[in-house]
Amino acid sequence: MPTPTEIKKTGPQELTVSWDDGHVSVFHTRYLRGECRCARCVNEITGLRILDPRTLVDDLTITGAEHVGRYGVKFMFSDRHDDGIYTWERLRELCQCEECRATNDRP
Ligand SMILES: [Zn+2]
Ligand SMILES: [Zn+2]
Repeated sequence: MPTPTEIKKTGPQELTVSWDDGHVSVFHTRYLRGECRCARCVNEITGLRILDPRTLVDDLTITGAEHVGRYGVKFMFSDRHDDGIYTWERLRELCQCEECRATNDRP
């Protein structure tokens, strides 16, 4: 499984993740925040999303990040939300580049 070699803010609302297999993912902060799967954003039993991403402010930023063991990262968002853990696997799944989108869309 690919793991990030670098995670850095590359714009006010942009996060770039470089992977050890050479892949680069660019994430929009608002998108990452909307994909949070913590108990406050997604119902643990039904799996349904509680958070409506449309309610998120446009200028959402990441104020901090923290490694979680060796398998993921936790982001602190400017809306004071910091419950979500993004595992490397999930972070890679969330990649929005053309290559990944093409792979993910394949049935
Ligand atoms: Zn959450
Ligand atoms: Zn990608």
